[in-house]
Amino acid sequence: MRLYSTGKYGLDRIAYRMNKENWAFRDRTNTPRALNSDDVRRVISNWAEYGGIVFEKGTKWRPAYETLNLDELPFRSDRAVFPIELLRAVAEVRMERTRKPSDHGKNHETRFYPLAGVLYCAHCEQLAESQEDPRLRSPLSGQFANGILRYRHKPGVKCGIHNRSVPSAELEQDFIRLMGLLMVKPEVEHLMLEIAIQADNGRQVHEQRDFEQEKTEALALCYRRIEAAVNLYKEGTIDKAEYLRLREQNEREIAHWESRTSETEQLGLEFALCVEAVDKIHRLWTISSDEDRQGLVRNLFSSVTYDLDRRRITDFRLKPWAGRFLTVRAGLHELEQAANVKENAPQQDRQGACTELLHTGLLTIPLPSLQEAVFTLIERLYAGISRPDKAITGKSQPKTERNNEVKRLDSIGWTVPDIARYFDVSIPRVYQILKGQ
Ligand SMILES: [Zn+2]
Repeated sequence: MRLYSTGKYGLDRIAYRMNKENWAFRDRTNTPRALNSDDVRRVISNWAEYGGIVFEKGTKWRPAYETLNLDELPFRSDRAVFPIELLRAVAEVRMERTRKPSDHGKNHETRFYPLAGVLYCAHCEQLAESQEDPRLRSPLSGQFANGILRYRHKPGVKCGIHNRSVPSAELEQDFIRLMGLLMVKPEVEHLMLEIAIQADNGRQVHEQRDFEQEKTEALALCYRRIEAAVNLYKEGTIDKAEYLRLREQNEREIAHWESRTSETEQLGLEFALCVEAVDKIHRLWTISSDEDRQGLVRNLFSSVTYDLDRRRITDFRLKPWAGRFLTVRAGLHELEQAANVKENAPQQDRQGACTELLHTGLLTIPLPSLQEAVFTLIERLYAGISRPDKAITGKSQPKTERNNEVKRLDSIGWTVPDIARYFDVSIPRVYQILKGQ
């Protein structure tokens, strides 16, 4: 309240500052947690209640832009929990700051961010995991400013990162490369399924074998019975009605056994779905609308974790049904890599490496766990790209170099708004740089 009444701080900055000073917020269940700007807003908007004023409507329903006569407010010092002068100042600042939202009408375009809803901050994710509090996770949401689409960190929360946002084009480029790694070439599809079945058999080999055996035996029995009935009918031992009854009975049983899918077939089905989902994202990405992309991503992924400082994807989770697919896919990558190393010819066509593998005891290779699978793929994703050990912040970029570039672009005829967009700085800033300030 005191910070707000000075009029110098916004809600976000107050939240940052209170967190820095180790203030904790107690929620309804009385458990302390870190503050965010929304908490600050809620407290601020309750200024009247803290002053003992009773309104007809609750805080939620009183618009902040409502003009009030501050001198005539019925503060009641006997019921106030904060000094009334402070509350009056808060009310004044709040009234000045807030405006009635203008009606944007049809010009206000809804934008879709393909990865919104599944994208999370890597630092917050770690905090959430170490403190076992899923509320600490922060989703990265879409933002449109200065002509650039970005994914931006939840405001008001500090988790140790320096960069608060990333251009969406850059992140999505990484994402689409990841999809490329997940994609399965048609010629190795059957191979992957085989690996999966093999791995599965290792786990539940008895059940599997029992079912397959039972099915084979039952089917053989049915066919023998039909054959026997045919013979009996031919010999005249049974009449036509009895023969038809026997045949129908056995045919029904055959149909029953045929329609029962085994684990193996189920697995094949899951696999096909997954291969298709991945392929679809990869194939349709460039030609789809952002709204469609969002649908494709949400269909397959439950989360993608991103490090805003290092600008890379650090973790991802597929939907549970796709988990098995992922481990097998990663397993295949490891095999490909091993094959490449062995033959000492990395430039060799992968396809060749894969078929080669079929004969080299490939099916005995253990598959990675889900977590290992994710790491394998991410390592692949950034293979050959050196990992920055410091945060990639725009601020750390040598300004002189950038400023010279700004001047150069200006001299070759770039417009100021274009330059501003290119460097992600404001238009006035470009003018300042050009004037040498
Ligand atoms: Zn964070």
